[in-house]
Amino acid sequence: MTATSSTSVKTQVGIVGGGPSGLMLAQLLHLQGIETILIERQSRDYVLSRIRAGVLEHGFAGLMREARCGERMDKEGEIHHGFFISDQGMTKRRVDLHKYSDGNSVVVYGQTELTRDLYEARDKLGGTLIHNVEDVKLHDLKGASFLTYRKGDDVHRIDCDFIIGADGFHGVSRKSIPKEVLREYEKIYPFGWLGILSRTKPVSPELIYARHDRGFALCSMRSQVLSRYYIQVPLTDTEECWSDEAFWEEIKRRIPAEDAARMETGPSIEKSIAPLRSFVAEPMRYGNLFLAGDAAHIVPPTGARGLNSAASDIFYLYHALIEHYKKGSRKGLDNYSARALARVWKAQRFSWWMTMLLHTFPDMPGYDRRLQDIEMDYLFSSEAAMRSLAENYAGLPF
Ligand SMILES: Cc1cc2nc3c(=O)[nH]c(=O)nc-3n(C[C@H](O)[C@H](O)[C@H](O)COP(=O)(O)OP(=O)(O)OC[C@H]3O[C@@H](n4cnc5c(N)ncnc54)[C@H](O)[C@@H]3O)c2cc1C
Repeated sequence: MTATSSTSVKTQVGIVGGGPSGLMLAQLLHLQGIETILIERQSRDYVLSRIRAGVLEHGFAGLMREARCGERMDKEGEIHHGFFISDQGMTKRRVDLHKYSDGNSVVVYGQTELTRDLYEARDKLGGTLIHNVEDVKLHDLKGASFLTYRKGDDVHRIDCDFIIGADGFHGVSRKSIPKEVLREYEKIYPFGWLGILSRTKPVSPELIYARHDRGFALCSMRSQVLSRYYIQVPLTDTEECWSDEAFWEEIKRRIPAEDAARMETGPSIEKSIAPLRSFVAEPMRYGNLFLAGDAAHIVPPTGARGLNSAASDIFYLYHALIEHYKKGSRKGLDNYSARALARVWKAQRFSWWMTMLLHTFPDMPGYDRRLQDIEMDYLFSSEAAMRSLAENYAGLPF
């Protein structure tokens, strides 16, 4: 396709990616009088159709309130003070988050709803948000930086002081950092999670994480009428391998019998398989480019850290940019990568630990299985171990 015309605008902060990271930062900066332009590859409807995270740590919820987007979350989100861990369907023990994380809790509120709230807030304030952009390129990251993109036949240019790469794992921002600068750390797990969303009452008032020889299962929810359930499946499986009936039968085998007996089943309204991956890219800054959220790091969903790790990046970036624009200090920006990565790696450790504790690995040696047993025993017999789980799950301080 040939470009027919071009435009050029200037802003303070150019944001690539309209997922939760990009939207949240745009909103927070706007409230501080800092100009942003956000560009997103997909349509708004598409972004809002993605079913992803659902558990927000207390720090994330605080950031939503600071962004003046917390009203619906506070009304409709559910505060959970704990969750259950079941083992082989035989035991079901509660993790008391509130007790062991010094009074903290998590909010169950879907990423889709949170994204909708952020979009609405951007609309209300008249923030610039451009959808359906193609061929996004980042230029001159160590000099007078600018972004270009194509929309329809037209090419557009945005000159900016800083570029925020919030364009997720498959985005263009991380790939714009020279290969000799970027270090990537990755761990791929030999299974995925098959998830379904159904308009049914959740089987339990709090989440159930289930360890079972047949594979891990999770009973989660988005609201009191919307359940989200997952089972561990081999990477070779596809959604087509699993009818709704087969899914319900299998999850019931992996959870305690009394929960299986009262589980409400129904047609799935979404069904997808997510592979489990741990990934970190370092550094998270290159010149005027700052990476945030999934653009820089991914965790397996076991510890509900994905979206929550994105939130801490946004918190650090937001404060660094305020420091820069309001106080003329570059300290926060210069420290951003090290500061963000310190927390990111803690979330990586926790997600890895929970994944290793709860999943059945193919060809798992008997020794590793016994270690899992003993880890589980230790968890429920040591207050120190329980505190470690609770403080990580409820969210380490920013
Ligand atoms: C299938 C799936 C299930 C998940 N489940 C959970 C869960 O249960 N719990 C949990 O905590 N986390 C979960 N996560 C992780 C969580 O959803 C992410 O951590 C969170 O979405 C990160 O937000 P983000 O804004 O950084 O990235 P994203 O949400 O990925 O947003 C990035 C945005 O950038 C856009 N984009 C990409 N490329 C470009 C480009 N070139 N130009 C412009 N825009 C671009 C994308 O369209 C997207 O809208 C899941 C993730 C996936 C993929």
